[in-house]
Amino acid sequence: MHSADADGLTLAQGYGRLWRTYVRRHWRSLLVAGLMTLIYAVTTALMVRATAWLVDAFDARDAGALAWAPAVILAITLPRGAALYAQKTLNIRTMTTIEADLQKAMYGALLSADLARMQQEPPASLGARFTADIGLVREVMDRGVNTVAAVATIIGAFTQMLLIDWVLTLGTMAIFLLAMTPINTIGARLKRLSRQAQAQIGQMTAKVNEGLGGARLAKTYRLESYLAETANESFDSLRGLKVKMMDQQARVEPMMEAFGGLALAGLVLFVGTRIANGTNSIGDFSGFLAGLAIASQPMRKIGAIFTLASQGLAALSRIYALLDVQNTVVDRPDARPLPRVSGALSFRDVHFAYPDGSMALRGIDLDIPAGQTVALVGRSGAGKSTVFNLIPRLYDATSGSVTLDGHDLREVTLASLRDQVALVSQDSVLLTDTIAANIGFGRPGASRAEIEDAARDAAAHEFISRLPNGFDTRLGEEGGSFSGGERQRLAIARAILRDAPVLLLDEPTSALDAESEAAIRGALKRLTAGRTTLVIAHRLSTILDSDLICAMDQGRIVERGTHAELLERNGLYADLYRLQFGKG
Ligand code: ADP
Repeated sequence: MHSADADGLTLAQGYGRLWRTYVRRHWRSLLVAGLMTLIYAVTTALMVRATAWLVDAFDARDAGALAWAPAVILAITLPRGAALYAQKTLNIRTMTTIEADLQKAMYGALLSADLARMQQEPPASLGARFTADIGLVREVMDRGVNTVAAVATIIGAFTQMLLIDWVLTLGTMAIFLLAMTPINTIGARLKRLSRQAQAQIGQMTAKVNEGLGGARLAKTYRLESYLAETANESFDSLRGLKVKMMDQQARVEPMMEAFGGLALAGLVLFVGTRIANGTNSIGDFSGFLAGLAIASQPMRKIGAIFTLASQGLAALSRIYALLDVQNTVVDRPDARPLPRVSGALSFRDVHFAYPDGSMALRGIDLDIPAGQTVALVGRSGAGKSTVFNLIPRLYDATSGSVTLDGHDLREVTLASLRDQVALVSQDSVLLTDTIAANIGFGRPGASRAEIEDAARDAAAHEFISRLPNGFDTRLGEEGGSFSGGERQRLAIARAILRDAPVLLLDEPTSALDAESEAAIRGALKRLTAGRTTLVIAHRLSTILDSDLICAMDQGRIVERGTHAELLERNGLYADLYRLQFGKG
């Protein structure tokens, strides 16, 4: 996997890529928004000029000019407001489009990523990519656009001030530059504090989730005070950081006021003498003040953007890391589609190590003739699920080969392979859609009648019909209110509809009630008939129904045979059997 990391990415690289891939294509909107910004800046500058003119007109009691004044003011402020509105609405459209584009790209990358990549990170952390990280990037873009407007406003205001009196303007600028030094120091401190706060927020969220997710554990073991204590520490240290941040932030405004006062005092001193000797008018002085007032707000905004941009960069690099995932399980350039197979499955000296290096399979040899059922049994961690993962190529074998009807799985296209594999697993997920759709996912394009037939074969038709909306009942999140047995039958219906030659069946470990057990047994018989089936078995009935039992231990098949043969051997299988079914 290629990962961009926050420290390795410069601002120019990070935002340059954002610009090239997501922003540049909106150049038309950006151009119009830019024009609006220009209008805004120009009208702002005109406000400075108009203020000077107005005050002089008042001073001179110029009735003719004053009659025009209201119209002049409107002629400046109305376009200024309109330009601001147009710029803001255009930008919000562009920014949210970019945001949604990024979300779509990330979700696409996530869906096509190797299972290995998806399992590297907790889902919550991947989820945060779509909310917190993207939100931060959007804020940077938002502020970035505002900064352009701010710079334009400052330039406009200063140009007018220069025109009124350049000596004064340069003097004022010098005072502002003087003010920048302490403000920059504060900025650097804020940046460090906010990084600490970000990390602290992460810890705090983890703590809160612990309390929520582990509610049952917490209550049973009476861990409330322990949880409260550790979480309170976390709340308190976040508070401490916030106080420090606010302390720093609180200094900025008074400092600006102080410098503003200094500038004003200098101005009064300087202009006072010049007005007295007739070099400057009162209007000049007022225009100047208006210019300062107009420029000071955007000056503050510019300071904030730098801190934010570096936070945004960290978010961007997390986003890029997700977008740039290099998949290892991909179609070879010369991959052919797998023709419909009968289902003869072979493992030849298959070894497999997970990306973290843990050896999960150490030489699996297994031939399953088409249509037969093989039960995998073994302690947890023996490698049963890993064997499963190799068949639809969620992972590729590290060495050795897996073939289906003699075709090496790595030489066929992923789509054609996966179309011929059905999976019924313990965590048979139901998606938030109708029951009909949930079964229908088994085979896109299946008709309603086919879906209902599949449900009937899976012994699910009856309980579905009892629902108020039958097959059109929508599932709530987490699978609504279905029992374990009902969910399994829905998963079986989906697999029946799929009608794939190869079936992977991961039995639930938890016991079902006797009625469900009987219904499911019948459903499974219909499902496995005529299919090559690999089953991670936990039920005696499934084991007895299979053609071959393989007992696995530490990544190897250590025993194979029928139930009677393996009991006779009195080895691993016999142990497991006694453990699981309590028989001697
Ligand atoms: P079983 O299904 O028999 O319980 P698994 O196939 O899940 O066993 O696990 C086999 C071995 O591989 C175990 O040692 C397990 O810890 C390891 N393993 C399983 N999944 C992963 C994974 N995603 N990353 C790293 N190691 C894994």
